[in-house]
Amino acid sequence: MTEPDLFEVVNPATEEVITTVELAGPAETDAAVARARAAFDTWRRVAPADRARLLRAFAAAVDADREHLAALEVANAGHTIGNARWEAGNARDVIEYYAAAPERLFGRQIPVAGGLDVTFQEPIGVVGVIVPWNFPMPIAAWALAPALAAGNTVIVKPAELTPLTALRLAELALAAGIPEGVLQVLPGRGPVVGQRFVTHPDVRKVVFTGSTRVGKEIMAGCAAQVKPVTLELGGKSANIVFADADLAKAAATAPYAVFDNAGQDCCARSRILVEASVFDDFMALLEPAVRGVRVGDPSDEKTEMGPLISAAHRERVSSYVPDTSAVAFRGSAPDGPGFWYPPTVLAPVRHDDRAFTEEIFGPVVAVVPFRDEQDALRIANATEYGLSGSIWTRDLGRALRVSRGVEAGNLSVNSHSSVRYTTPFGGFKQSGLGRELGPDALDAFTQTKNVFISTEE
Ligand code: NAP
Ligand code: MG
Repeated sequence: MTEPDLFEVVNPATEEVITTVELAGPAETDAAVARARAAFDTWRRVAPADRARLLRAFAAAVDADREHLAALEVANAGHTIGNARWEAGNARDVIEYYAAAPERLFGRQIPVAGGLDVTFQEPIGVVGVIVPWNFPMPIAAWALAPALAAGNTVIVKPAELTPLTALRLAELALAAGIPEGVLQVLPGRGPVVGQRFVTHPDVRKVVFTGSTRVGKEIMAGCAAQVKPVTLELGGKSANIVFADADLAKAAATAPYAVFDNAGQDCCARSRILVEASVFDDFMALLEPAVRGVRVGDPSDEKTEMGPLISAAHRERVSSYVPDTSAVAFRGSAPDGPGFWYPPTVLAPVRHDDRAFTEEIFGPVVAVVPFRDEQDALRIANATEYGLSGSIWTRDLGRALRVSRGVEAGNLSVNSHSSVRYTTPFGGFKQSGLGRELGPDALDAFTQTKNVFISTEE
């Protein structure tokens, strides 16, 4: 017998070890795939109304456990209690939303000569889901809910740092009556468990959320078996503020569009582009808003921003703000234990500064001026990323022109919303491939089968 591979789960706000989780190795991964493969044969045949009922029961179990799930995420990921409650509610909503899908996975009937032609939306098989540490609950739910609804079985590999809520979701699914093997959560290392999803021939689809670097490796690996992938990768999104905008509102909300979850959000609006004529006015309004962000104990209801996920990640974030950086102003952060980093605003900043071009994934934002609409679009699109973005203007025509002009999958006008479970979410360019949420996600977990039935005598 080999020694179990134990991982110490740490509270990032206190640096205390919360618990220890056993990481799966290659043999455990293969065993989980075999269970998922066996469960697929029965799960896909569960009558649509029964699969729907089981998913509704799962959603109800998540609903009843929301406070517990939220507390787990506060402790494991340092999320503010307000955010963590939203995340648990989002997981419930997503499961409930896709519970309606089994009975609505319509095929088509296509006019043809000599018979009847119909299509079926068939499940793909075992789906491997690789989840990052930044939003452990929602990101797991966005994949597992539509995948299960469409008749697939699912194995989730949570990030090493944040396995606790995913493990709890698996317990809740079992308690709700979802059969053994249909949804498994397998803590483990990315290059071990995650990589096995890529190479195992019985895993028929991979969903990956995380860094663009690893996403490219996953996509390349999946090519060997022509295995479909959904990728949700990084971002460097622009928050574009025009002179005619409600400047007070744009400035008051801008910090939360980038510092929420301590900036560890693929949709973070980490580049603020401000029309030159109002640049100074905007900065004057932004400063008190940034200084006002409440950073501290994530379990305190009033806290707006918690710590970063780990010491290593804080090192990485800090590397983008060397002593030579032009820091316009900063918010606060607690001293003492915890992986704290204060909200930080960089200006002026060169367009080729790596703080302006790379995803920092921390509470650091760069503000630059632009001349006109064309200039704003040029700067916004001068990146290989294309996930989200915001446009602030009172001119409806401009709002639409710029929305169409920004090369990104999720845009909001006069707001910073990116995610609604009823609407599609995903990236342009190197921010991703495929769409999650809304009606589109089911396409990612089904394949179309065409059947022709001859009516000839
Ligand atoms: P990452 O390395 O891409 O990790 C994401 C997930 O992939 C984790 O579950 C990880 O497992 C797994 N993984 C790592 N290497 C793998 C491999 N070779 N094969 C299969 N799975 C693998 O991301 P990270 O290191 O946590 O963060 C690095 C940067 O990525 C961040 O600073 C940020 O810029 C970006 N990021 C983006 C998002 C997003 O939402 N788009 C989320 C997270 C990170 P382990 O936990 O074992 O490493
Ligand atoms: Mg990594």
